Amino acid sequence: MMKRECPHCFDTLKKSNLKKGLWNVEIDTCSSCHGLFLDRGELLRLTDNRPLHNITTKYLGVDSDSKLLCPSCGSIMDMESINGIEIDVCLQCNGVWLDSDELEKLKELESKDIEQLSPEKLAELYDAKSAVPTSGILSWLFGR
Ligand SMILES: [Zn+2]
Ligand SMILES: [Zn+2]
Repeated sequence: MMKRECPHCFDTLKKSNLKKGLWNVEIDTCSSCHGLFLDRGELLRLTDNRPLHNITTKYLGVDSDSKLLCPSCGSIMDMESINGIEIDVCLQCNGVWLDSDELEKLKELESKDIEQLSPEKLAELYDAKSAVPTSGILSWLFGR
C-alpha cells in the first residue's frame, strides 16, 4: 500500500484504532498536527450519522476549493462546511481529512442537525445537476 502522508505537514501518517460499538476502525493520524484521515465509510461508522456520510459521498461537490491533496490517492479534495466545521473530502475516493478536534465536533452533531444544505451548497449541486438529480436533493431534504 502507498505510504500515506499528512497533507499539511507531509509527515508519514501512523495507523491507530478507534473503537465504536462493534466497529474497530483503523484510522491514519499525523503525530505532528494530530489531523487524521478516514477512508470512505469510516466517518459513518464513527459518527453513525447518515446525512453527514451523504455529504461526503453522494452530495459531494464537483469543484475543488481545498488546497490539500488526498493522503490516500493523491487526488484533489473539496472543502465541505458542515454546521461551521470545515472538513476536506477527496473527490476521487471520498476519504475525509479532519483536523485535530474536528472528529469530536462531528461526533456531537446529530443527523437532524444536518437536515439543511447551505444555499451555496445547493447552488453548487444545481450547477452539477447532471451528476445529482434535483429530486434526490429535495427528497433528501424534505422526505424524511
Ligand atoms: Zn500533520
Ligand atoms: Zn482520495
